[in-house]
Amino acid sequence: MRCTLIMVGTELLNGATLDTNSIFMANELNKVGIKIDFKLTVGDSLEKIIQAINFGKEKNNLVILSGGLGSTDDDLTKEAISKFLNKKMIVEEKELIEIREKFKKLNIEFLKKNYKEVEKPEGAISITNDVGMAPAFFIDGIAAFPGVPKELYNMFPKFLKYYTDNYCENIDPIYIKDIVVSGIPESILEEKIKEFFIEPNIEYEFLVKDYGIIVRMQTLESFKNTVEKIKEKIYNSIGKYIITEDEEKIEEKVFELLKDKNYDLSVAESCTGGMLASTIVGVSGISEFFIEGLVTYSNESKINRLNVDKNIIKRYGAVSKEVAEAMVCGLETKVAVSTTGVAGPNGGTIEKPVGLVYVGVKVRDKIKSFKFNFTGDRERIRRKTVLHSLFELYKMLEEDE
Ligand code: ATP
Ligand code: MG
Repeated sequence: MRCTLIMVGTELLNGATLDTNSIFMANELNKVGIKIDFKLTVGDSLEKIIQAINFGKEKNNLVILSGGLGSTDDDLTKEAISKFLNKKMIVEEKELIEIREKFKKLNIEFLKKNYKEVEKPEGAISITNDVGMAPAFFIDGIAAFPGVPKELYNMFPKFLKYYTDNYCENIDPIYIKDIVVSGIPESILEEKIKEFFIEPNIEYEFLVKDYGIIVRMQTLESFKNTVEKIKEKIYNSIGKYIITEDEEKIEEKVFELLKDKNYDLSVAESCTGGMLASTIVGVSGISEFFIEGLVTYSNESKINRLNVDKNIIKRYGAVSKEVAEAMVCGLETKVAVSTTGVAGPNGGTIEKPVGLVYVGVKVRDKIKSFKFNFTGDRERIRRKTVLHSLFELYKMLEEDE
């Protein structure tokens, strides 16, 4: 089963409102195996909405609209649908009573134009709106929802239940497997794994993010086992570059290992300035293991708080492997992480350019440092440092016997 989405609203075209409704709908549609072929956005224009419905109905059995369902003059979706279907607009007595009740409860005067809230093309079935005024409706393969996100969230799942119960034979939900890799350029990644992508019923995609690349395999639930087999091959080929899968966060994986091993953790941050600690603290339950985070930004702080030898700083500079390692030695916990780097945009030199970062990791008596040359602005360099430091920590914890 496939569909077209039509997002209605001039505000979506002129940059005033970000379209998040279609993201929500895509996730819900995925769950029941309905694929989106097209997503159109149109302004509040009767003619354009009709054109979009025309396009959608030509391509797909199911067309879903969001926005423009209210009672103001710029709300034209209902009119567009009734014109397209050549059906007159009606108001059901029962729905009129209900909406009058809603207005009464909220102490708002019910005006003539509020009839519009419950108008619908003749023959449409309504979907009850538990959180707002205008109900959504469905008629002849066209479903229309209000633009207000909370109202959409309330009614869309109810509609999907109705639709799949009545119009879909077998539900085969969409299955997505994301493998997040880092530290390998996209072209090399592709060379290494494209030979596994032979199953025609799976769509393969590389999504480049600032923390790495997502290798996405999208298919139907019935091909899940095939995806799992391909995943295994990918792990065998490039396993050392894989950070996480799906929505799983690297800090949560670190937390699991700390818990298993019962190790305590602390961090000393220079270029990340607290961002690493903040990310760690985002994991619920971490308080049992996370002891402290120090922002040791200046040389004095590194010397005074972490006992970094000032001669090391003098000799190698604050942004160096030696200082990153000395920083973790100054922390008393079993596990420790340090960051020191040039986040830019100023402060770079030829030997130490913007984006050069050293991360120190200590797991019991083992100390390692990692050198990175990140690109991007100050914020991105700091974010990448956090992610990669957690990734290196995770790998060292995994290796720890
Ligand atoms: P109302 O009865 O409130 O007028 P409506 O169905 O007419 O509902 P719109 O007027 O199109 O809905 O949009 C109402 C509000 O919902 C917008 O101002 C906007 O804040 C939000 N909205 C609309 N479309 C989207 C969208 N695609 N994604 C996120 N928010 C949206
Ligand atoms: Mg409106």
